[in-house]
Amino acid sequence: MSVAALTLYDRALGAYLGFAIGDALGATAEFMTAREIADTYKGGLRNIVGGGWLRLRPGHVTDDTQMALALGDALLAARGWDLRMVADSFVGWMRSRPPDIGHACRRGIRRYLVEGTLEAPLSEDNAGNGAAMRNLPVAIATLDEPELLVCCSLEQAHLTHHHPLSDAATLAFGRLTQILLLGGSIGDCRRCVSETLALHPRFRFEPWPGNTSGYVVDTLQTVLHAFFRNDSVESCIVDVVNRGGDADTAGALVGQLAGACYGVHDIPPRWLRQLDRGIAERVQRQTAALLSLPRPLPLRAPSTRSIPLPTTE
Ligand SMILES: [Mg+2]
Repeated sequence: MSVAALTLYDRALGAYLGFAIGDALGATAEFMTAREIADTYKGGLRNIVGGGWLRLRPGHVTDDTQMALALGDALLAARGWDLRMVADSFVGWMRSRPPDIGHACRRGIRRYLVEGTLEAPLSEDNAGNGAAMRNLPVAIATLDEPELLVCCSLEQAHLTHHHPLSDAATLAFGRLTQILLLGGSIGDCRRCVSETLALHPRFRFEPWPGNTSGYVVDTLQTVLHAFFRNDSVESCIVDVVNRGGDADTAGALVGQLAGACYGVHDIPPRWLRQLDRGIAERVQRQTAALLSLPRPLPLRAPSTRSIPLPTTE
């Protein structure tokens, strides 16, 4: 199918399934080096086989997809934006004994439980991937509403991560996703990225600096480098996860962009078969429901912030 013929639903479902598949595939290689992956998987890691340091069952996903689903559940339960419901949904997820949970996420959710506060203090330690990785439901629910995208993205981000680079990366992925969901071109994405790079030069990704840690700068560079040099969901995800490091999060985020760009029909059928059926069904139901939320997205509780201006480094 030509990308021009894709519907919004094709793109949104492509983004969410691409995200979950990138997570499920990349989890196998998380914390491995590219050399170790190449030595272990002849021809590269190309199938969802589970394992990895989490010893996942094939087709299962990690905190990235689980937190995104928890965020989406809160949006749907509120039929709008209610940050406390998002925080409560993250609490419910943490109590479900997930396979993994990032340090800053655990700390932020615990702070909410103990203090009831909805914003982590500004911290140098909060520049991990946790906020950017889970924001896809917000991007879908605030389509065509750029100010709401900023407001809701930063509010959910600051529950656990409060750092200018985490903020910038969360917004950059959110904006790129919305451009693609609305049928924008790769050129439109390039222009959007140029604006981000002008504000945050350390995000420059060409040439690729070669780092794959859970630092949000490394992830953004890895994901954008792969997204702009590949032309399919499969090639984008395979390229990223075989670089190792935080392969599940980077795989998820490049799957999100590639799925939004090339649509659900471009996802290899074997990956759709390999993804856990329960996860796939939840993703499918949530995508349709998020697209059906009222527009503009109602703010159900007083917002904790006014809409911020972009900051430079
Ligand atoms: Mg993960």
